Amino acid sequence: MRVAIFGAGYAGLGVARRLERSLPDDVELVVVDESGEHVVRHLLHRGIRFPDELDHVRLPLGLLLDRATIREARVETLDHERAIATLADGESLSYDIGVVTLGADPEFYDLEGVAEHATPLHRPADVATIRAAFEDMLEDGGRVVVGGAGLTGIQTAGELAALARERDASESVDVTLLEQADAVPPGYDERLQHAVADALEAADVDVRTSTTITGASQDTVTVTDGEPIPYDQLVWAGGIRGPAAQGGDRPTVPATLRLDANAFALGDTVRIVDENGTRVPPTAHAAIRQAGVTATNVTRVVEHRRENGGFEPRLDRYRHDETGWLVSVGDDAVARVGPKILRGGAAMAAKTAVGVGYLTSVGAVEDAVAHVRDTVTPDAVDVTPPR
Ligand SMILES: Cc1cc2nc3c(=O)[nH]c(=O)nc-3n(C[C@H](O)[C@H](O)[C@H](O)COP(=O)(O)OP(=O)(O)OC[C@H]3O[C@@H](n4cnc5c(N)ncnc54)[C@H](O)[C@@H]3O)c2cc1C
Repeated sequence: MRVAIFGAGYAGLGVARRLERSLPDDVELVVVDESGEHVVRHLLHRGIRFPDELDHVRLPLGLLLDRATIREARVETLDHERAIATLADGESLSYDIGVVTLGADPEFYDLEGVAEHATPLHRPADVATIRAAFEDMLEDGGRVVVGGAGLTGIQTAGELAALARERDASESVDVTLLEQADAVPPGYDERLQHAVADALEAADVDVRTSTTITGASQDTVTVTDGEPIPYDQLVWAGGIRGPAAQGGDRPTVPATLRLDANAFALGDTVRIVDENGTRVPPTAHAAIRQAGVTATNVTRVVEHRRENGGFEPRLDRYRHDETGWLVSVGDDAVARVGPKILRGGAAMAAKTAVGVGYLTSVGAVEDAVAHVRDTVTPDAVDVTPPR
């Protein structure tokens, strides 16, 4: 019997590491990922200001997994009814149970010129592209427009503004964050939105809400109400769509995370309605928690099939528990911890602790240390006792 996991991000790696422990030895476990590495995507924006940190958010899968077979290949199609995947290397892979964790692709909503002119912040290579273009602007001055003020857009704008400040270029470089909703981040409670807006303002990010991008040319974005906005660099963080292997769709799965008889799906690749009927946001935090439920359910289905049937096994159900929320804005941060909203040092400490906690949980201790080193800001107080 073979269990195949497609994609090794937060969701896929989390499921794989648990299944390595829970599956019977004679069940083959295969992990297919096009990059062969686990990208700690929620720290990617840090690479704009700290390029060395990029090395610490790309972790080779071979170091993180013990018994799974790793296939470095792009998944082209998935046919769960026949339980077969076609891969870009021309081969196909059959499976008994598939776990789809391919993440999501940037969504450009067919807006004219946006996909052509904007850089999304999705992969490590995008970070290098964004930094290189911004470096030119630091020399010559200009405006970077960031489209979309979710977690990705806010944190990206925050890093760009902090880099401009570090290079004494805040006067000549504008960081403009455009959001179609009337507050940032959209969909959150007002107290949190106020704290984020204050942090962005303090960072010199020009936030324009109720501003919907309708298209882009080489040097201008057009918006619904208002004059076209000239730009020198355009970064896109406006939304996500399903992966190409799913035709761009993000199908909805129930709280058991079972997609159909032969497949489970979790993380950004699907829309999830949890046990309480809540729509689950596409975040790393949620993907990590869904991995535990999925691994339990896959193990139960495997055992059930090995025992040849009877009633379908009872499956665990995912319940989304948004105990906290964290976003960085350069060296500042906003955190919601229970009912409290924190900003500044305490929030940044919480954000760093989450990054460190995740890296150490997957065994990347040296990378965790590097993350702490880069998060210590120039104005941190040195309390090292004299020798
Ligand atoms: C800049 C940025 C900042 C963010 N900040 C936060 C944050 O602060 N907090 C938070 O909770 N979330 C944050 N997020 C969101 C978070 O990163 C995603 O929700 C999370 O990565 C989703 O996990 P996943 O496992 O579903 O997908 P991913 O982590 O995207 O993993 C998908 C995997 O599938 C592989 N793959 C994709 N397509 C194929 C294919 N066709 N064939 C083979 N392999 C494939 C990829 O190589 C990748 O390894 C941020 C995202 C970004 C971009």
